[in-house]
Amino acid sequence: VTARSLVCGLDVGGTNVRGLAFDPAAPTEAGIERRVPTPYTATDLLSAIVGVVHGLAEAVEADGDEIGSAGLGIAGLVDRSGRLVFSPNLPGVHDEPLRDELMRELGLPVIVENDATAAAWGERVAGAGMDVDEMILITLGTGIGAGIVAAGNLVVGRNGFAGEAGHMVVDPAGPRCPCGRRGCWERFASGSGLGRLGREAALAGRLGSVVASLGNDPEQVRGEHLTKAAADGDPEALAVLEEFAWWVALGLANLTHILDTELIVIGGGLVSVGDLLLDPVRRSYVELLYASDRRVPARIEPAVLGEDAGAIGAGLLAAR
Ligand SMILES: [Zn+2]
Repeated sequence: VTARSLVCGLDVGGTNVRGLAFDPAAPTEAGIERRVPTPYTATDLLSAIVGVVHGLAEAVEADGDEIGSAGLGIAGLVDRSGRLVFSPNLPGVHDEPLRDELMRELGLPVIVENDATAAAWGERVAGAGMDVDEMILITLGTGIGAGIVAAGNLVVGRNGFAGEAGHMVVDPAGPRCPCGRRGCWERFASGSGLGRLGREAALAGRLGSVVASLGNDPEQVRGEHLTKAAADGDPEALAVLEEFAWWVALGLANLTHILDTELIVIGGGLVSVGDLLLDPVRRSYVELLYASDRRVPARIEPAVLGEDAGAIGAGLLAAR
């Protein structure tokens, strides 16, 4: 038996640092996994990542294999040299040359990329976008992440900051965003945006059964209350979900106007709502799309790699 050269894919989230060791030729075969809680200082974060990679390397070597490179995806602005400029999850870690530090500590080739960009590559190579050259991945979670594949290549941009679709302004008079602007798409179309739409509806006297189940306090309405009530067939919750779907579709149509994409893959926590959300998104998307009767509109499909997408994509980028 010859030793295989595996890759280590890492996903640094707000809660966990997660690492997968896998064969880049078979990325969806079950690999070996390690996870530790995410620390909030740069020094502790580096040691945690190095610890995960060392743990995986030991496990892999016990099978006679080795780790040849490592790729890391992390939320926030990552520049083209693999420096984490800013991360919304880790306000204490900024301007950190993560790639250089990890290469020095690990003695391996390392890449560092934005987590949604890495996840887009994972879905493109091994998930919903296999063999699709024009693809966008959108993750709908607390915020919105995006990764763009055009002409078969990952789009990273001049600074490495391409794909900040969540901060595309869709209403200049809209609610304030932590980024300093008003009316960013993620204020409307993320999981927290769904919660906000729900609270507005509840304060306007709608969503009677949802509010009743929350001690009659409209301020308690969160996205998950709405999606659950909608899944149970509550017509008022379905109506709010339909409004939410319009906001999701607005951003997807805007992105299509720029990129004329073939496939839009939806990932993140909200994808678990399934066609209950995606069907109204698809309907509004075609209504909002310029020249929709003269083009093949993008297909809108759920992500298939789930929470592994970022780690798999980062590992595949490192293996390139
Ligand atoms: Zn913003």
